[in-house]
Amino acid sequence: MRVRFAPSPTGQLHVGNARTALFNWLLARGHDGTFILRIEDTDVERSTKESEASILEDLRWLGLEWDEGPDIGGGHGPYRQSERLHLYTSYANELKAGGHAYCCFCSPQKLEAERKADLAAGRPPRYHGTCRSLAPHDVQHHLDAGEKPVIRFKVPEHIDVTFRDLVRGDVTFNTDVIGDFVLVRSDGHPAYNFAVVVDDALMEVTHVIRGEDHISNTPRQVLIYRALGFAPPEFAHLALVMGPDHTPLSKRHGATSVSEFRERGYLPEALGNCLALIGWSPRSDAASAGAADELLPLGEMARRFSLEHVGHSAGIFDPEKLAWMNRHYMKAASSSRIAAESLRFFQARGFVRRRTDAALGYLESILPMAVGSVDRIEEIPERLAFLWSYDAAVALARPDVAHVLHEPGARDVIAALATAIAGPLLDRDAFRSVASRVKEQTGQKGKALFHPIRGAHLPPDTTVARIMSAAERARAFAAVAGTQGS
Ligand code: GLU
Repeated sequence: MRVRFAPSPTGQLHVGNARTALFNWLLARGHDGTFILRIEDTDVERSTKESEASILEDLRWLGLEWDEGPDIGGGHGPYRQSERLHLYTSYANELKAGGHAYCCFCSPQKLEAERKADLAAGRPPRYHGTCRSLAPHDVQHHLDAGEKPVIRFKVPEHIDVTFRDLVRGDVTFNTDVIGDFVLVRSDGHPAYNFAVVVDDALMEVTHVIRGEDHISNTPRQVLIYRALGFAPPEFAHLALVMGPDHTPLSKRHGATSVSEFRERGYLPEALGNCLALIGWSPRSDAASAGAADELLPLGEMARRFSLEHVGHSAGIFDPEKLAWMNRHYMKAASSSRIAAESLRFFQARGFVRRRTDAALGYLESILPMAVGSVDRIEEIPERLAFLWSYDAAVALARPDVAHVLHEPGARDVIAALATAIAGPLLDRDAFRSVASRVKEQTGQKGKALFHPIRGAHLPPDTTVARIMSAAERARAFAAVAGTQGS
């Protein structure tokens, strides 16, 4: 099995395309197949090297490594269409020689007038065939005059073209709705439908898995396969990814590109897991012991993935589900990984200046207080901001806080806190149970409970072990509040 992901480097990797890449990858990895990355950069005006680099980076981040591609080569290269122009020229010549293609000299103005006439008459716009039967000497005449033709495919008339789609079953189009389409533009660059067939055939792609926006291109491609004498691959067209309001996922829904999700602090395994479940439902099997679990690592998804279980109705991208999965994977990840991932967000807040072992170690030790209660890594610094921003002296200078802290109950709270905190480190749950024990013991609640507890925090330059040391909290509080702590 050979599959490919063929992005056009004209922007950032959209999550819908990332899901297409993922399904190709899952199929290849689950079937000992080959996953090819091909860059479709024949649109010279819109393609950029930056976009190509960011797509590669996003795919790597998601864990979708390829076996053949522009950066690593392979036996069927080159893997950038811009480096394959000689191949398209040669196959275009073959099609012309075989009577399957012809030069067209119609001006853009003439084509536009035809298009308008078709629309006005309620017909689907298609090429009217003016240059279809130009005699060879007429063609030569145009060429001698320096005109640059496009090359059009001669679509056979009045026939049904049927292909089997592994997601939707048999799909049939009649060629009456397909005008003679362009294979090669006047600047010599191939059109998508032509380049994709030449490449998929020469790269020996066995399964073409892509978005359903390409379904109406497929009969055109099948016709080119036939004319070139190549066997078409299997096709699978994936339903589009929709937002929660059932409209195609777009900027209106928030983040849509993989890099945006990465920047917002989602983990790649959460995004990959969430995208895989859009349109695919993993069936439990003997090896998974009937687990209906949706939380599946990439390898496990690859083991279970099959196109038979990919639905043909549109899938919904649910941000709530992504957040839930991200919480799960954040909890499952090692704290050193989350510390490293969160560092840049702490830096952005000005809480940490440089990446040092000490900074990472410190973050690692305070993360348990935040992970588990945030959806994204980006939210962690906010959760822990109190460690940087809480200043007991400033708090105590506020009359309302000072008033609370000078009540006798405050001292009880501090004393109870000092004994209730057993270990040197507290995670969120342990802290909650400590707080409720203190509450029960002292009968204090609301401000009378939380101001003394907060007041017991040490200043921000202390290490977490000290921040969490109950005795020191109590002492610091006592010193600042002028009360006798225990
Ligand atoms: N470059 C095309 C796209 O990004 C690829 C379509 C295909 O997979 O055939 O939509």
